[in-house]
Amino acid sequence: VRIAVVVVARPGADGAPALAALRAAGIADAEVVAMPVPGAWAAARNAALDRAAQHDVLALVEDDVRVDPGWGEALRAVWAGPDAAILGAAGGPLRATSAPAWLVGDHAEVLALHDGDLSSGPFPGGNVAFRVAALRGVGGFFPARGHDAGRDTVGEDRRAQRELEAVGWRRAGVAALSAARDLSSLHPTDLLRRRLHTGARTATLAARGGGRSGLGLVARAGAAAAARVVRGDPAGALDRIAWAAHGAGAVLGPALAHGELQPDRDRTTLRADVAAPEPHPWAVAPRAARAARAFARREGRVHGAVLLYHRIAELGSDPLRLAVTPEHFAQQLAVLAERWTPAPLESVATGEAGPHAVAVTFDDGYHDNLLHALPALATAGVPATLFASTGHVASGEGYWWDAVTALLGPAADGDGGGVLAIDLPEGSRAWAPAGAGHRAAVRAHLHAALRTRDRPAIVAALAALRTWGDAACESPGRDRPLTVDELRRLATAGPFTVQAHGRTHVSLAHAPAGSRDDELEGCAEDLGVWLGTAPTAFSYPFGVPGVDVDDATKDAARAAGYRFATVNAPGLVCSGGDPMAIPRFAVPDVGGEAFARWLDAVLPGR
Ligand SMILES: [Zn+2]
Repeated sequence: VRIAVVVVARPGADGAPALAALRAAGIADAEVVAMPVPGAWAAARNAALDRAAQHDVLALVEDDVRVDPGWGEALRAVWAGPDAAILGAAGGPLRATSAPAWLVGDHAEVLALHDGDLSSGPFPGGNVAFRVAALRGVGGFFPARGHDAGRDTVGEDRRAQRELEAVGWRRAGVAALSAARDLSSLHPTDLLRRRLHTGARTATLAARGGGRSGLGLVARAGAAAAARVVRGDPAGALDRIAWAAHGAGAVLGPALAHGELQPDRDRTTLRADVAAPEPHPWAVAPRAARAARAFARREGRVHGAVLLYHRIAELGSDPLRLAVTPEHFAQQLAVLAERWTPAPLESVATGEAGPHAVAVTFDDGYHDNLLHALPALATAGVPATLFASTGHVASGEGYWWDAVTALLGPAADGDGGGVLAIDLPEGSRAWAPAGAGHRAAVRAHLHAALRTRDRPAIVAALAALRTWGDAACESPGRDRPLTVDELRRLATAGPFTVQAHGRTHVSLAHAPAGSRDDELEGCAEDLGVWLGTAPTAFSYPFGVPGVDVDDATKDAARAAGYRFATVNAPGLVCSGGDPMAIPRFAVPDVGGEAFARWLDAVLPGR
């Protein structure tokens, strides 16, 4: 077992004492990773994970943690079981050693000394070891935003441990992996700062705001502190002041904690699809943008909306929400024709079609677009644009995400395969799913991991997935793309204009310039040969701005001769908008009434 041991050091902290303790425990080659800015735990831990790419195990200690003499031997000796991915010290919390005399009261949680009940809770991040491939499988460390439980008040190391358990890995406690935290250099202001931030994070993540109780805590703890000063009990007073700081943090809430709870995208190299950080709640920009939208609407500068569909089909399970049922689609089109102005994409983009204009678009080119969408569009008299992925049409090969969904779906029973390992260019990633719940979580991780890959990597990953799983779960017939002949029939039948979606459905912002240009130009060539006309519009595969589409992508699409391009991000089409980044609303699979309410909320109908 190749083990990387990394000391994560806060800015200005000295990693030497922690290294000395590791050396005494037989670990001679530990490294120190310095945190770039205070509080950037995820960034520092992900940097450690990057360094451990050639290792099987990543063990993390913090700068104030001193491992026990038997720690190194224990770590080398036990790598418990094939399904264990997280090892920590069992039988007790990370002990405090050399605590200053002024530290009284219960500040254990904020100092991450323990995490409650160790039989069920995660191990403290100051002394925990991970199976590297498993940790890479779930995307490394990630700040707490969006955590389901909303209780992740201590750190992203907890979040990573929960993710690992959600995809089937086990935690194992090892008594000999014990360590102590040296608090002798802890300064009272450190304690107060940490309590302030913990209060803010707790309040921000709690379902209800902590403002009122925060104020109450400040008042009560402040009064108690004053009483203890009077009684000549300075340590007790400091304890109460620390609680008052916690309450003050709760009052400040998101204003203080916001930054700490945002995705750490720059240093989360394993997650290309991380959402962009949300704007600070006090930021001026989003308010200005809202005001500008309202102004644009008043001034009659709204051109309309573009809808995004993929499939019209009845699918048993559709976790990616690609399908609308034929029944719902017919109802949606009837509502659209009655209350809005269905119009071709280009006349919505240019504003010719009036303020109630709505364009219908389809991405990818599934065969059910011919089978179910075409007759419904013809009946309702609604025009539509199909963005076809011509490599799939030419080869007949299905889309990789359908294989991933099927092989890891609720009907699959590939658990006999044990650990699922996928080799990617930068290292192996692995999951240990047992049961449908784990498989669903693995599916989401694998989808995110493959999304920005080139074709050879995706082909290799699918081969590994099929070896692990049960290929009989796939429905290649149900999920197939249109054939060239079917695409011709669809293009000449009336409602549909066929446009371009690239050849092999790769994320263009992640593709090298040469293959990006092949995708853009080759797709236009294919459509020109098959249909006799060159496409004028392009839909970027996956299409999320900032992830799959950047400025270079838009420039390349323009250079390839496209006049319009659509992205996969909600928004109205307005005059002065970027014609190479037309926003679209992904349509939910709902009936006519719900569809009308949904669309009315963004673009009021007639
Ligand atoms: Zn697509």
